[in-house]
Amino acid sequence: MTPLILWFRRDLRLDDNPMLHAATTTGRALIPVFVGDDALFSIGAAARWRYGESIRDFAAGLERMGSRLILRRGPALGVLRELVAQTGAGGVWWTRLYDPQARERDSAVKALLREAGTEARSFPGHLLAEPWEVETGQGTPYRVYTPFWKALSARDIPAPCPAPARITAPHSWPQSERLEDWQLARALNRAVPVLARHARIGEKAAQARLDRFLANAVEEYRHARDLPGREATSGLSENLTYGEIGPRRIWSAAQALLGAEPGHKGAEHFCKELAWRDFAYHLMFHTPEILTRNWRAEWDSFPWREDSPEAERWRRGMTGEPFVDAGLRQMYVTGTMHNRARMIVASYLCKHLMTHWKIGMDWFADCLTDWDPASNAMGWQWVAGSGPDAAPYFRIFNPATQAAKFDENARYRHRFIAELSAKPGPDALAYFDCTPRNWGLDPAAPYPAPMVDLAEGRARALAAYSARGT
Ligand code: FAD
Repeated sequence: MTPLILWFRRDLRLDDNPMLHAATTTGRALIPVFVGDDALFSIGAAARWRYGESIRDFAAGLERMGSRLILRRGPALGVLRELVAQTGAGGVWWTRLYDPQARERDSAVKALLREAGTEARSFPGHLLAEPWEVETGQGTPYRVYTPFWKALSARDIPAPCPAPARITAPHSWPQSERLEDWQLARALNRAVPVLARHARIGEKAAQARLDRFLANAVEEYRHARDLPGREATSGLSENLTYGEIGPRRIWSAAQALLGAEPGHKGAEHFCKELAWRDFAYHLMFHTPEILTRNWRAEWDSFPWREDSPEAERWRRGMTGEPFVDAGLRQMYVTGTMHNRARMIVASYLCKHLMTHWKIGMDWFADCLTDWDPASNAMGWQWVAGSGPDAAPYFRIFNPATQAAKFDENARYRHRFIAELSAKPGPDALAYFDCTPRNWGLDPAAPYPAPMVDLAEGRARALAAYSARGT
């Protein structure tokens, strides 16, 4: 019985990990490995730092079970081949990913390992259902969320599998690099301690988040999820991104609530939101170009503006539009942003500033600790109007009326904008501690006047839209 190499990527958990579960049932010695390749070193600064924290936590969890996480840097195929040669492993197993780069890499790894006589197997676990399993009556992929949801929720979502009781170690361990030497925080131009205050790292933290959400917030989720001034959502996107919790674990916990109380609106709505994540992956798998260009080709001729001083003020949370700035500053300070704010800041950039969604998408990718390629691209193209099942272009969020409706008591805006309070709180002040010095921001300076008149911005966007006939 040769050892098996388990190639961990975005499945950094022991619980509900079908690949790990299947591997432990073989009785073979297991060599968990994380490969530091381009998929790690090319992602945004905040996500790269956060990925490192996840790797650290997962390695510690393995060590508590008498196992280890071997770290090796380099292109995946070369690293894995070398490890197979060094350990005599008979197979390499991993959990599937679905972005085009990962798919290309993984197919090549699979083919070449097999050619060399090494077993190469991939497993589900990142999603509720594999993207090819959900299809229309005509056998085609879904383009619209509601029928996708109906088809997904009608399926039997596999139950989560338990964490292994033991992981057999090999007779000797191959050498590992040190995580510190990878310097994953290096690209971060903001203070790590500020971000770290808001991160909930690892498997235990993720499960605690789920438990707390189901105990305290799910009842009111359906309505309160739109109120950024309240802690009314699960916050699990940060953990799902690195696989610190599996979506099937979340799904089954929400379904248990529904089983106990059929028609539980909060639990039902929570499952529907979780299914948006699967929908994003479904779209990315079947139309990978959603990551790089307008999903609807008719938008190619739209007069998007490229980068500009206005877009830079947007990035810096200095538009003078409090709801927009609060969202952008929340992202900078905490690494995440409330969903309502994501829609508003994105709409402001794409519509009031008529700036290409890719510019916003890239900024989110650099700043979010819950960055997810599929959800980020779908979210931006949805708001811009260029995506499948997108908001119509004439639906232009007005940040002022949105604030009056969803942040009635201004709690969210005051939490993140120091200039609006006589006594700003820690999160508002943290923004000034962690933004680069060359931005020259000062909490004592007056809050900027609005950069764009909302009515004029709206009219300009609508005129451009009508002129194009898109
Ligand atoms: P909850 O309300 O507790 O929802 C539970 C889970 O459901 C989430 O963790 C998430 O996995 C999923 N979910 C909920 N809403 C959505 C949605 N609209 N799309 C996809 N999945 C959803 N989400 C990311 O995880 N990473 C991103 O990079 C990302 N970028 C976005 C960019 C834009 C422009 C927009 C409009 C949305 C983006 N989203 C992204 C989706 C959404 O904003 C976040 O998933 C949500 O805010 C996460 O908070 P939560 O975990 O508390 O969500």
